[in-house]
Amino acid sequence: MLAFDGVRGSRGWQFGEALAMSFPSAPTAARPAAVRSRPRLRRLSSAAPERVADGVWLLRGGLVRTMNVYLVEEPGGSGVTVYDAGEKGMAAAIVAAARGFGGITRVVLGHGDTDHRGAAAALRAYADVLCHPDAVAQAEGSGGRDYWRMNDLPLDVRLLHGFSHRFVWDGGPVHIDDTVKEGDAIAGFEVIDLPGHAPGLIGLWRGRDRVALVSDCFYMTDMHGRRQPPAVPLDAYNLDTARAKRSIGKLASLEPAIVLPGHRGPLTGPDVVAQLEAAAA
Ligand SMILES: [Zn+2]
Repeated sequence: MLAFDGVRGSRGWQFGEALAMSFPSAPTAARPAAVRSRPRLRRLSSAAPERVADGVWLLRGGLVRTMNVYLVEEPGGSGVTVYDAGEKGMAAAIVAAARGFGGITRVVLGHGDTDHRGAAAALRAYADVLCHPDAVAQAEGSGGRDYWRMNDLPLDVRLLHGFSHRFVWDGGPVHIDDTVKEGDAIAGFEVIDLPGHAPGLIGLWRGRDRVALVSDCFYMTDMHGRRQPPAVPLDAYNLDTARAKRSIGKLASLEPAIVLPGHRGPLTGPDVVAQLEAAAA
């Protein structure tokens, strides 16, 4: 099989390029029009907000409700920070849910992959979109496609995901208005670096009740959307799997009580740290 690696690698690159080329090359800084909203479609795209920690609300989106978007109430003010932007069809549901808290103050992307920037381009009608400097190229560009190794995925997953990235998850490149780095304060949380799965992957950490929002630092879903214990994301989707494991270890060392991932979860209970340490091993 080793003899074919070069061929497989190059075909993977072409597959990624073909998908990436079907998008406009660069997002513009112009604000989009307000999101059109139909209640029935909104309910299809996302469940109602679910309170998962003090001032933190989870919107479970997508057909099988595996796409997590978090609304974080701004302490001492009105509005919510949106952390991760789910899949593109969730835009109207995010806007409607945020309206109940006074609207969107900012959108922070945990990383730039298609299924996390999904609704971000549409949400720029309401607020700035921020991410880590190392995630800008993906958020404004291919959404991860330029380093994923899709051909390493099983054929059924490759076909399912190829379709989903293109037609269901990705809202396309989004203009990044500003960047945030480790230690920055966001809505009562602080930014923490958790790179590896994706460049510039960031989480939000709140020490007073040990809550962490971590995007795809680890997966609690398999490639078909089924639940699984925390695990390092699949190699084919990682920029650097060893680095991703070190980031899970870093998260474990914070001794979180509630960890809110990008898909499924929350991770909570007496053995959170042990589960994270197992995933980092
Ligand atoms: Zn993801």
